[in-house]
Amino acid sequence: MLPAPAAPTLDALLPAELPLLMGVGPTPLPPSVAQANTHLLNHLGPLMNEVVESLQVLARYVFQTENRRVFAVSGPGSAAMEMAVANLAWPGRRVLAVVNGTFSERAAIMAGRAGATVDKLELPAGQGATAPLFAEALSRGPYDLVTMVQGETSCGVCNHALPELARMARAAGAMVLADTVVTLSTMPFQMDEWGIDVAYSAGQKGLACIPGVSLITFSDRAWEQLGRRPLPPAQWVLDAKLAEKFYMGHQYHYTAPTTSLLALHEALRLIVEETLPARHQRHAASSAALQRGLEGLGLELFVAPEHRLSTALAIRTPKGIDAAELCRRIEADHGVQIAGAFGLPIFRIGQLGEQCRPEPVRRTLLALGHTLRALGWDCEPEKVVTQL
Ligand SMILES: *Cc1c(COP(=O)(O)O)cnc(C)c1O
Repeated sequence: MLPAPAAPTLDALLPAELPLLMGVGPTPLPPSVAQANTHLLNHLGPLMNEVVESLQVLARYVFQTENRRVFAVSGPGSAAMEMAVANLAWPGRRVLAVVNGTFSERAAIMAGRAGATVDKLELPAGQGATAPLFAEALSRGPYDLVTMVQGETSCGVCNHALPELARMARAAGAMVLADTVVTLSTMPFQMDEWGIDVAYSAGQKGLACIPGVSLITFSDRAWEQLGRRPLPPAQWVLDAKLAEKFYMGHQYHYTAPTTSLLALHEALRLIVEETLPARHQRHAASSAALQRGLEGLGLELFVAPEHRLSTALAIRTPKGIDAAELCRRIEADHGVQIAGAFGLPIFRIGQLGEQCRPEPVRRTLLALGHTLRALGWDCEPEKVVTQL
């Protein structure tokens, strides 16, 4: 038998105060969501059925859809992405993937693994897809499915043309997959009005919920196509037809993460209580203030305003400063976490959910300014925050 290892308690492992999460997810939890995450229910039975049905009503508002099929997914945003892609792509299907960065590329990789033939419209770093570029890519079709993100978190780009691109894709006979992981509830998204066939999001970003639980919804049109698959998807856990058994029929598929579903229910309820217009406004105003503050520190945003994602800001790393060192120092010295990047000369700050409040924005700008100064960058953080 192996000897029992030393087993530190969580108190010993964790610092007395956890860092302020100002990266691009996970994001801070409202206290009532953290509280909801402590309840445990059985996954089958009338109590859970009621929770699931109520969750679906709330989620329909958040996605702005009347879709019948709204499911939670036990897993990260990538699991919801895989449920969307693996159920709607199969050998013989043609997929056009709009690629702005790491996450939109991930959908293309999944479609390829599902056996579909995948073409990519690859945008240069920092650019959103435009109608002319998309029309040209679409003309190489016909395609069965177009995948795109509303917001590309890896480089801070927003495909602002999403409604128009979705219309074009549908007119060309393709279904439309929209990744709203970093945008749902934080900026306008109109599933039905824009003609989106499948959309998903994850708990730990704009929904201000825990990581490990996600949401997905399919249009009737997507559901009908999925019913015509020659074979079920290879992924048993992520088979949408099996998920329907639990989320529509209240029958066992796998043990649903009941604690996470209660947390998600509470997170969605808070969004409904705030209302989408007020929540969008809070995010826009907070992000605008943060952007002014960043510019006040002499920093430059990586993405031009017309392509910029306001909920995940990508900031050019100043010359002579190492982004990894900046992220390490700001956390060690100020207890604020921000995010590095996947290979680009940027660092990133989130504006998602509870990050969009005056106090965390102020604290982040002060911490960032003082850290930059310690690394040799000239700026006046106090002055910047008084002018917000
Ligand atoms: C974070 C993110 C994902 C992946 O979510 P995980 O929970 O990390 O799997 C997918 N798409 C976008 C746009 C994201 O921001």
